[in-house]
Amino acid sequence: MATKLSDNHIKLAIQKDGRLTEDTHNLLRTVGLHFESYKQRLFSICRNFPMDILYVRDDDIAEYVAEGVVDLGIVGRNLVVESEKPVEEIMPLNYGHCSLKVAVPADSGIERIEQLSGCKVATSYPVTTTRFFAERNVDVNVITISGSVEITPALGVASGIVDLVSTGSSLRLNDLVAIDDVLDSQSIVIGNRDSLANSHKSAIIERLLTRFRGVITASEYKYVMMNVPTSALEYISTIMPGLKSPTVLPTADVEWMAVHTAIHEDMFWDVIEELKTLGAQGILVSSIEKMFV
Ligand code: AMP
Repeated sequence: MATKLSDNHIKLAIQKDGRLTEDTHNLLRTVGLHFESYKQRLFSICRNFPMDILYVRDDDIAEYVAEGVVDLGIVGRNLVVESEKPVEEIMPLNYGHCSLKVAVPADSGIERIEQLSGCKVATSYPVTTTRFFAERNVDVNVITISGSVEITPALGVASGIVDLVSTGSSLRLNDLVAIDDVLDSQSIVIGNRDSLANSHKSAIIERLLTRFRGVITASEYKYVMMNVPTSALEYISTIMPGLKSPTVLPTADVEWMAVHTAIHEDMFWDVIEELKTLGAQGILVSSIEKMFV
């Protein structure tokens, strides 16, 4: 009998083959889902969770979610905004970071978007681009290009572009400079509104989101173990704004205590430097796979 999708399962659409695919697979595996995946597959059934995974083109994901073909999607926020589909943006996933920027040739002398007034602007994101310039009362002629937007100024097709940038190397390679930000994007979970209002489906969705949260929160923290002079313990506890107070354990030497805590990445290096100044020794750092707070 051919394998088929189950009515009792929720359905999740992910990018079939592209920039977000590997990180999305890694996330699904890290949250403990077991499923077969190989290139030709259209869908997979999770063996240990009531969910089926559909592999689709990423520019179709918002549409499938809005129409209820699937309950959830994982997709770049840029595509959700561009699609203007009525879906719920549920959760950012902290990968696939990029931003949609206005860029112009480095030697154009253009520094502000107002200077593009009356000019052609090429983009693969015409809806978002048109709205951006209209909101700023800058009248441009938006030209829709499906790929390699960054070469259009050199070809004389447009005076400026609106394109996705992550490292900026593609802009540099084409002698372009960014002059404004249109939109920040990353991979996000989107949901169908009816599915989120359905008690059976929303309970499964919430179980999945709890797992995602555990992985995302963990990726923002480092687990730190160290020995600190007992005399400095009180002060050291105050500079380590862990989740709760750090775990403090006695060591064989009363002059030293062992301290374990989780430190957020934003303050990690500052805290480590201060800990060393205060005499902390044997500082061990490890990443955390999952964390539930
Ligand atoms: P792909 O169609 O496989 O190139 O994947 C494109 C998606 O990856 C976009 O919709 C963005 O959400 C994301 N992304 C992240 N960084 C970039 C980038 N520098 N250029 C294009 N897409 C990016």
